[in-house]
Amino acid sequence: MPLGVVLKASIFVVPMMAAISAHADLVVLQYHHVSDSTPPSTSTSVSLFKQQMDLISDLDLEVVNLRQGTETTLSGTAGEGNQIAISFDDAYASVYHTAAPLLAEKAYPYTIFVNTEAVGSNGYMSWDQIRELSERQDVTIANHSADHDHMARKPDETEEAWEIRVTRSLDSAQNTLARELDAPAPMFAYPYGEFDQPLQAKINERGWYGFGQQSGAIGRKTGKTRLPRFPMANAYGQLANLEDKLRSKAFPVDTGTLPDGIISENPPTLVFPLVEPIDAERLTCFASGQGRIDFNVVDGNVSVQAPERFNSRRFRYNCTHPAGDGSYYWLSQQWLDLSKPED
Ligand SMILES: [Zn+2]
Repeated sequence: MPLGVVLKASIFVVPMMAAISAHADLVVLQYHHVSDSTPPSTSTSVSLFKQQMDLISDLDLEVVNLRQGTETTLSGTAGEGNQIAISFDDAYASVYHTAAPLLAEKAYPYTIFVNTEAVGSNGYMSWDQIRELSERQDVTIANHSADHDHMARKPDETEEAWEIRVTRSLDSAQNTLARELDAPAPMFAYPYGEFDQPLQAKINERGWYGFGQQSGAIGRKTGKTRLPRFPMANAYGQLANLEDKLRSKAFPVDTGTLPDGIISENPPTLVFPLVEPIDAERLTCFASGQGRIDFNVVDGNVSVQAPERFNSRRFRYNCTHPAGDGSYYWLSQQWLDLSKPED
């Protein structure tokens, strides 16, 4: 009997090791409108959307259900190679009229994050339309807050007022989804991609996944409440860079150790450990609007600070490093300057 146990164990060890070394990561694409007549900054043109979907099929990448893909990636049980998931924020009408038929043709699963108070107003889907999509195979409806407010604690807001505001928005949206649909998924997309650590704690308490708008792939060491997605609006989703994004790998740091995105100095400093197999010589970092920026390595940590102040509410530092086979490890830190006006 003991021999049998050993044999069985050794049979299973080999494929498990192979799967781990292949680093199966999940790349999540984030859309708002798919339309040629909505604001360009939050829209993906119809032709670009079609080309993006065609590239995914040409590369033979598997498109998976967002919740299942996240679960298997975080637990390290995903198969080999990258998986892709598709998500839409705000439940705009163009998703129902334009994106949904194209996705049905490809039989690709997707998730729609709904800010529930906007449903039925001009430019948004109705509950009947959302229900119709939710009844299709592999279409998931999830929470994007009730009121789509900026959810990090505001500079002039007491902790108590923040607590009441955020709790109400998170839970009333989930209750509305439960009333209108069957069982809402335990997933949340932060409005504007803005979050702070107290808000992450609220998402964690509810047992939900929290998705941002910072770029990068999800891997085993990605924090459950700061899951990255690649924005796919016209400016970001161009085909020339899409293959790098689809093939990108999660940066091998535990993202739970990265700093809160709320800045206390401008420009802020990002510090993360120089973990295997990252080699400082092959690491490249960029800042929004400032191009490539320098970094220092001090006591085994990488310390990145842009040379110039930022004038926008949200901005990012991105660092990439070759990951083999022409792919890149991709790390994105989103920063939020609460002193700048809300959009
Ligand atoms: Zn939104």
